[in-house]
Amino acid sequence: MRINIVRLMERLATLAKIGAIDHGGCSRLALSDADRDGRDLVVRWMRELDLEVSIDGIGNVVAVLAGAADGAPVMTGSHIDTVATGGRFDGNLGVLAGLEVIQTLRDAGVRPQRSLAVAFFTNEEGARYAPDMLGSLVYAGGLSLPEALDIRGVDGTRLGDELVRIGYAGASTVGVIKPHAFVELHIEQGPVLEIKRTSIGVVERVQGISWKEYTVSGRSNHAGTTPMSMRHDSAVVAAQITTLVRDLALRMGGDQVGTVGRIALHPNLVNVIASRAVLTVDLRNTVESALAQAEAELEASIKAAAAREQVDVTSRTLVRLEPVEFDAELVATVERVARQLGHSTMRMPSGAGHDAQMMARICPTAMIFIPSRDGLSHNPREYSSAEEIEAGAEVLLTTLLELTHTL
Ligand SMILES: [Zn+2]
Repeated sequence: MRINIVRLMERLATLAKIGAIDHGGCSRLALSDADRDGRDLVVRWMRELDLEVSIDGIGNVVAVLAGAADGAPVMTGSHIDTVATGGRFDGNLGVLAGLEVIQTLRDAGVRPQRSLAVAFFTNEEGARYAPDMLGSLVYAGGLSLPEALDIRGVDGTRLGDELVRIGYAGASTVGVIKPHAFVELHIEQGPVLEIKRTSIGVVERVQGISWKEYTVSGRSNHAGTTPMSMRHDSAVVAAQITTLVRDLALRMGGDQVGTVGRIALHPNLVNVIASRAVLTVDLRNTVESALAQAEAELEASIKAAAAREQVDVTSRTLVRLEPVEFDAELVATVERVARQLGHSTMRMPSGAGHDAQMMARICPTAMIFIPSRDGLSHNPREYSSAEEIEAGAEVLLTTLLELTHTL
């Protein structure tokens, strides 16, 4: 049994037309009109495959192919929302490859022992509503449904209202299907597999994530008349925080990474000293104690920088997730399957967050990575070749088949 790579690539291309942007990318922010149109298309495909489709209260969609025997289904899936300047593979691949696996079984007339489910989760990217991986977090019981529905987006909208508006506030209870196991296929979104010329990344763990928003409050004044010694310049402290994050990550080494991705200055004028800066810090590490150490060290350095400039700095936590270890046995299964199919493999951590890390809270979970050209992702030029995608989908098919036949 082989997956049909032409059909899978066609589906990826068809979905990519919705919210299409230049250079082959996609812009389908969670719960936007484009997200609704993408959802409608994928749900139509699910129904065409005669799957039992359910939509839950946070808009997660689960489609089930009934197995021959009772028991919890094996689940695969990912997300179809994108960042504003996203690519066509991030998330979408995991969902459409899951559909392709099911269609392959259908075409071959194979009925799995266990039921097989493919899901897509709401708001994985977190580009419009924080936190990211929201749908799978609620699914795994990490956030209550009422709290999630009340979240305000960066555009001021209430998540629950947008969910109703696009017609995806479903009637199913969130998380009612507890999977037997969960396996997610995803692009690596980094350069390692390509550099190592390896086909399949066997993901062992996911980095912990710390997102904080800092607000620096200084004093606006005239850029020409205010002596340098008398300034309380929020822009300077925001810039210092940016370099502190870089220095910290380099000093700590290992898996530690750190990014300041957003800075907003007020009043943001050429001849006015900034009274306020609002910026975000993203710290990640695969080891919880190291991540906590990075947070503490940065906090102390920021305090010192604020004292030097005599400005106030306050912070609030946007996201805090501990590193996640995937199921050792399932990770070994993915590795063995990939090798049996003749692919080169390497074990690796994931630097990005994924729905799989939420599902790991409720069932044995693993992930399959395929290479991303030039390591690009969250970029319209994100690309993986048909051969690379086929390899990943074949590993997914065989892994899911093994799991569904194990009763
Ligand atoms: Zn993704």
